[in-house]
Amino acid sequence: MNLIIHRGSHEVGGTCVEIATGEARTIIDLGMPLADPRDKSKKLKSFSLTGKTIPDLIGMGILPKVSGLYWGLDDERPVDAVLLSHPHQDHYGLFPYVRRDIPVYLGEDTDKILQASEVFLGDKFGDHDKKILLRDREPVNVHGVSVTPFLVDHSAYGAMAFLIEAEGKKIFYSGDFRGHGRKRALFEKLIEKPPHDVDVLMMEGTMMGRQQEDTRTEDELELEIADEARIRAGMKLFICSGQNIDRLVTFYRASKRSGATLVLDLYTANILHELGRSSLPVPTNGFKDVKILFTHHFMKRLAYYEMKHWYERWRSYEIDAKGLQRLGKKAFVIYRDSSLNELEKSGIPKDSVMFYSMWSNYTLEPSFDRTRAFMDRHGIQFKEMHTSGHAILSSLKRFATAMDPGVIIPIHTEYPDDYREHFGSKVRCLHDGEKFDG
Ligand SMILES: [Zn+2]
Repeated sequence: MNLIIHRGSHEVGGTCVEIATGEARTIIDLGMPLADPRDKSKKLKSFSLTGKTIPDLIGMGILPKVSGLYWGLDDERPVDAVLLSHPHQDHYGLFPYVRRDIPVYLGEDTDKILQASEVFLGDKFGDHDKKILLRDREPVNVHGVSVTPFLVDHSAYGAMAFLIEAEGKKIFYSGDFRGHGRKRALFEKLIEKPPHDVDVLMMEGTMMGRQQEDTRTEDELELEIADEARIRAGMKLFICSGQNIDRLVTFYRASKRSGATLVLDLYTANILHELGRSSLPVPTNGFKDVKILFTHHFMKRLAYYEMKHWYERWRSYEIDAKGLQRLGKKAFVIYRDSSLNELEKSGIPKDSVMFYSMWSNYTLEPSFDRTRAFMDRHGIQFKEMHTSGHAILSSLKRFATAMDPGVIIPIHTEYPDDYREHFGSKVRCLHDGEKFDG
């Protein structure tokens, strides 16, 4: 069994790994790069992909050069499977280019989140002839390769690590994970009973070189948000990824603590509903202090996809501009540029606050200009309230020690060369495209 990191050996984002045996080739993740491969100091703009053919995109370095993976190049022998670890763009974003006849393996929650993202955000996922849904710790067999998924704690709900076993060897792909989120019990469980005799651990290291970042637990974040909310006389707005279910729960709990009503949009309400867990804060699960804001933008999308039932089912929990106005300082509202009209119609009270709960660098991008202008217009205070979705160094160390692999290969990191200092002589740094015989 050998492995190749097609992309991700020296960067965060755009991850793509191939594991090959004599029998089968398996691809793990096919992410959109964050940096433009032609000039890594620049962010990759999604419009750079518009109208490009697959050979163009391979030529531009955006699609990793992997034979038998993409549609339209049918003369190549297809790879045998694609595994997707979690619903973050930098792990699945290039998946729409994959041949339809290649089976895709992904967790049930990942599948639900990707479907909702396609409808609401236009993040394409596409139809596949064969989709196999993975369950925690239930192995599947891909042409003689055993794949066991492990649910992990990460900012994407349902994120999985994979144990790959074939030809007497074991490779563990960590995917993205952390040990300080709402699902940290998953991290502890894995550390307590790790798989035995792992030959190769491919371990993410997003936080390597970013140790200065604050890493509060979700519980600590909840208390901080609630404290801040209590002292604000105006509306509470927040920005977070609709796929970050842990964070949505944190905002719900902070809203409840401060005596407010959480106002979700149709996107987040439907994701929470579709995941089918009674603990998630939506009115259909009996949460009376949650309302749903209907926006023209999302209703239009749902009508286009012939999915009107995804807003009709919230009718009795709907809140409009007048309702928001009535709630006033008791409104704890998810913000999106596409809800701007509805929010402004409600009138933004004085001393309102915007809790920003994503990576701070996103605020430097032009796409944040509209949000900033909205805040300026209404004198809204900006407050960052975030904690990372990735493991801090101490968690990485505990993880690596528990796994006790023969070799550690850095992935999803900008600082692979720092691994040796922290994880010792087992570390083997690869370059993109380099084959490693496990
Ligand atoms: Zn991720």
